[in-house]
This record gives sequence, structure tokens and C-alpha cells, in this order.
Amino acid sequence: MSTIKKKKLRIKKKNFIILLFILFLFIFLTTKTVKMISHTIKNHKENKVVEKQKPQKRIEEKKVEEKTTIEDNKPSYYKEEYKERYEKYQNNHPELSEEQIIKNVNMQLDKTHYEDPIPAQYLNTEKVLVNKYYYLGSDYVPDNLETISVQYALSDMKLVHEAKEAFETLAKSAKRQNLNIVAMSTYRSYKYQVNLWNKYAKQDGEEKADTYSGRAGHSEHQTGLAVDVYNEKETYTNFEKTKEFDWMQEHAHEYGFILRFPKDKVAETGYQYESWHYRYVGIDAATYIKENNISFEEYYATVIENEKNS
Ligand SMILES: [Zn+2]
Repeated sequence: MSTIKKKKLRIKKKNFIILLFILFLFIFLTTKTVKMISHTIKNHKENKVVEKQKPQKRIEEKKVEEKTTIEDNKPSYYKEEYKERYEKYQNNHPELSEEQIIKNVNMQLDKTHYEDPIPAQYLNTEKVLVNKYYYLGSDYVPDNLETISVQYALSDMKLVHEAKEAFETLAKSAKRQNLNIVAMSTYRSYKYQVNLWNKYAKQDGEEKADTYSGRAGHSEHQTGLAVDVYNEKETYTNFEKTKEFDWMQEHAHEYGFILRFPKDKVAETGYQYESWHYRYVGIDAATYIKENNISFEEYYATVIENEKNS
């Protein structure tokens, strides 16, 4: 071989090695780039998935927060022993605020009328609550029943002493304005109520009778603190249309009386609107109930029962 030929061969060998190196470098860089691109795409996709999950996660966190607040921000009238009932009621009424849930369960509204009734507390006081959840025994007769003066009542109308005094003062004040407020049904015994409800049930059916008449033991009239009134001209069911009613709307609380079954509280009281039925609760309670536009049931559940705890 000539030296020139040898040289040429060496150069060719050198070029080949360089070419091989470039080729190798190219392959290396290409795979690296492809890997990087695919990785970025993958990451981007995953990010999207994470983003999609995020709001849901936030909602879940919020739900947990909401669930804990019924415990955390509990009002003073929250009852530990009603915990399970609050939760059950909340599940059935997710639209209600926690405060309303606690109030409603405290008012026993999670129960059916007359199901599992509770013996009435605070007997012989103006705090006593008698309704379709709280009852008086068949032998309960209030202390200190007294007959209202016939100037302001039909004959033989009895109320508990404080209520009787307050009612006479009220009727006397109304009379000064030429208004005639007359008691036409007051204390009624358990036995009387048995016959009354049976009569109504026979007449209108049990379901209808329950909307306006208490079953025996569940009538507020047995407390001697409730009075039905009329003006001696209109029948008592038309009391709403009289001047006497307007006066009662404005002044009854000043004497310790409340309109017991208002139009907008039917769900709480369990009774249809009765413009003629008033209940003695004392001046402070009557004023509080009127100013806050609440039922006696709500007052009992949030104020009277709460006094026990404080
Ligand atoms: Zn009545």
C-alpha cells in the first residue's frame, strides 16, 4: 500500500467515527426531547385532573365544617340529650339553619302529635306548657281557681288567681274605652274535655277535630290560664272582626296575656288560628313574645327551659 492510500484510509476512518458520534448524539438528543415532551403532556393532563378534583374537595371540606358547627356554635338552649334527634332532623330538613333545627327539635316538632307525649312541667305556674306534645294528668286541677266577676264573664268562669286578677283588670280597662271583652270559656276539667273532644270528633271526624280542639289532658284550658273571649254581639269565631280584637292586639300583653294561636305559628302550636283564645303568661313573657313575634312554644323551648341551665 502506498502512503497516500494509507493516509486516505485514515481520513475516511476519522470521518466515519465523527459521523457515528454525530449520529449517536442525534439519537440521544431526540429520545431525550421526546421523553421530555411526553412528560410535560402527562403532567399537564394530571394537573387538569387535579384541578377538576379540587372544587369537590373544597365542598367536602366545607361540608365537614358545616357538620361541626352545630356542635361548635351551639346556642345556650342546645340539649346534649337531643344530639341524635338534631342530626336526624337536619338530614330530613337540609334547607333549615342549624339554629332553626335546634329550636324545632326543642319544640318537639320532629315528633308526630300525641306520639310519645311528655308530662307537662312547671305545674301551677304561668310557665306551664300544654299542647300536643305536653300533657296534664287526668287528675290535675290547678290550685287557686277563682270565679271571674260576672261583669266580665259568663257565669261560673274560673281562672287561676293571678290570671283572674289580670283578666279583670284588662276587661275593666277595655270597658273604659267602651269595649266589651267577656270571658266565655276558661278553666275546663279533664272530664269536660273528654266529652268536648268526643263531641267534635263525632261531628267533624278526628282529624278535623284535632285542628281546633285539644284531646283530654292536652287542652290548655285545663291549666286555668287560658280564656276564650267574645264581645257579646258577634259570635266568638268572628272576634277578629271586632274593635275589641284590635284593642287586644295592642294591649293584651300589658296585662300578661298573649294571642296563643296566631296565624303564622300553626306549625309550632299545632292549632289553627284562633283570634279569641288568650293565655296568661305574665307581663314580662307576654311583652317578650309580642316584641319578638314568637309562639309560646318557641319561648318555652328557648327561654323557659334555658333558665334551668343557667
Ligand atoms: Zn280556647
